[in-house]
Amino acid sequence: MLNDVLPDLLEEMAYLVKQQGADPLEAKLRALRIESVCDCGDENCASFATAAEVKVASYVELQAIEGQVIIDLNATGEICFIEVLGRPDIKYLLEEYYDTTSG
Ligand SMILES: [Zn+2]
Repeated sequence: MLNDVLPDLLEEMAYLVKQQGADPLEAKLRALRIESVCDCGDENCASFATAAEVKVASYVELQAIEGQVIIDLNATGEICFIEVLGRPDIKYLLEEYYDTTSG
């Protein structure tokens, strides 16, 4: 669960969606699983997929204190991808959890 891996990010996002009047997203955020971590290789990227199939139909950009956090939604309004850019704190936690580095 997202709550196990990135509890601070989850709370930050839950707070921000409420601030921005997107309250219904909070419950969805709390139910998210990380399906896979983005493998684009960008040093600034700590994005991850939360659905097996990522088809972005719309998005909600959060007013994050640091970096960029964008919630991507599919056509049925479910969260399928979380874009996280410029957040070394999140990247560190993801890498530690998934140990994506080989060797
Ligand atoms: Zn990426």
